[in-house]
Amino acid sequence: MSHDTPTAPEKTYRHFIHDEIDADLAAGKNDGRVQTRFPPEPNGYLHIGHVKAICVNFGLAQKYGGKCNLRFDDTNPTKEEQEYVRSIQNDVRWLGFQWDALFYASDFFEQLYQYAEHLITTGKAYVCDLTGDQVSEYRGRLDKPGRESPFRNRPAAESLDLFRRMRKGEFPDGARTLRAKIDMASPNPNLRDPVLYRILHAHHHRTGGKWCIYPMYDFAHGQCDALEKITHSICTLEFEIHRPLYDWFLDHLPVPARPRQIEFARLNITYTVLSKRKLLELVQAKIVHGWDDPRMPTISGLRRRGYTPEALRAFCDTIGVARFNSTVDKQLLENSIREDLNKRAKRAMGVLDPIKVTLENFPVGRVEWIEAVNNPEDPSAGTRRVPITRTLWIERDDFREEPPKKFFRLAPGKEVRLRYAYCITCKEVKKDAAGNVTELVCTYDPETLHGSTPDGRKVKGIIHWVSADHALDAPVRLYDHLFAAEFPDDVPEGVDWKSNLNPNSLTQVATPKLEPSLRDAKPGVHYQFERIGYFFTDPIESKPGAPVFNRTVTLRDTWAKIEKRDE
Ligand code: ATP
Ligand code: MG
Repeated sequence: MSHDTPTAPEKTYRHFIHDEIDADLAAGKNDGRVQTRFPPEPNGYLHIGHVKAICVNFGLAQKYGGKCNLRFDDTNPTKEEQEYVRSIQNDVRWLGFQWDALFYASDFFEQLYQYAEHLITTGKAYVCDLTGDQVSEYRGRLDKPGRESPFRNRPAAESLDLFRRMRKGEFPDGARTLRAKIDMASPNPNLRDPVLYRILHAHHHRTGGKWCIYPMYDFAHGQCDALEKITHSICTLEFEIHRPLYDWFLDHLPVPARPRQIEFARLNITYTVLSKRKLLELVQAKIVHGWDDPRMPTISGLRRRGYTPEALRAFCDTIGVARFNSTVDKQLLENSIREDLNKRAKRAMGVLDPIKVTLENFPVGRVEWIEAVNNPEDPSAGTRRVPITRTLWIERDDFREEPPKKFFRLAPGKEVRLRYAYCITCKEVKKDAAGNVTELVCTYDPETLHGSTPDGRKVKGIIHWVSADHALDAPVRLYDHLFAAEFPDDVPEGVDWKSNLNPNSLTQVATPKLEPSLRDAKPGVHYQFERIGYFFTDPIESKPGAPVFNRTVTLRDTWAKIEKRDE
């Protein structure tokens, strides 16, 4: 891979969390410490939404000279796997961040259990024998208070005994729960005696068979924050109504620190879904070729597509951090990678839909090697040599038999410049029996190498080309939006969100003709195929001498063009 050295973000725009932290620091809170954490559940691969959370959390630690931990929120043993733990660590590092400490919620299972006993003995929690369905029914509705469980006033000693027996494995899954005793009439449903522990006889990827009761997310999260001495627990807005519960636990437990939860708006992007559950569904249904399919909005998919950590971080900086939910236009993400690759990608020529050109005055068998700059934005990228011969490939779309008015490319009798090389004029158009153009017979002007014409005549168009004798036919894959709908999640009741898939999200180019220098392209390298787009040699499938090219992004937004055309 071309990005194995972590680098810190270049800059971060100021946002409201900075104001909150500044106020805490000014008030002398936390002895001036700032400590955050990124707390993924290891139940899938990270996606671009997580990139935002990672940039926010690690960014704050960097800005304030604080710390940021990585914490695996592994309280759901049936959905979590070691493979996800590995991929998450890899993705965070690849983005350019290094955590200070690594924790798992399961590291704290014993302490959390002790906290639960503490709540029982202080009369703040009870073992409840209602079934799951009954618990929900008793909870009431938003506009209607709940009812108290008949087990709510069970003596603390009895609850303690039952809770210990729950831990010992005396009861089957779902038979009992431990619940906090808060307020069944609270307007906030999270405070209506929330479940703290459930019975689940399941193997855990780290603790194995040690536990058969597991803490709920709400009970684990804030206490883990406190145990890690997190000062600012940053999460997405849907947790705002969990905050009173977060604070309730801190108020009623002998925790060693007092973290503060601050919420921000989660990232949504057009033409994609951002939810591990849905992404897993795409993987399991084999709609994509895995979590790292280049069409996936996962970090591993984006990486394989050719996105860089710098572009993803710059994107997160651009979109900012706020407290209202919105959907970001996919173009913003694409522009961030265009901008980055414009600076770093080597240029090359590749013809994706070839049509043959014969230069009738170019000597048969002659090969001229023409100097071409590798990157006009970066002189240090140097030059390479590209062969030109009598027979070339050009893009079919760069020729029109009957050109519209402002068409400056090739047409009968018209002259165009071959990029880095000569000007050519189309003399004859050959066709097959069906009338398809099969070959363009042209002449070249030997006096026009490198930009000038001897008589000063203007040649407006420049097209790319590849010598037919040297062309490399390597796999080229064109990727496009995975979904055709701007808001794929927005489906009427009963309609499958997967019905919004874009049937053309992957196109294998039938007869690519690439310049021969690309034969030596190493895996994981960025190129700009001039006038076409940015491509990345697939880091997994490319082999020495046999690169596979993934299109990262087109040079311009093609979807905007389609919309305009439809207007
Ligand atoms: P998903 O629904 O995709 O599983 P999640 O929120 O359940 O997402 P977690 O593993 O719990 O995933 O997320 C870890 C952190 O990343 C959390 O703090 C969460 O708020 C944050 N996060 C997840 N999705 C987004 C998003 N789209 N935008 C910003 N932050 C996100
Ligand atoms: Mg989650």
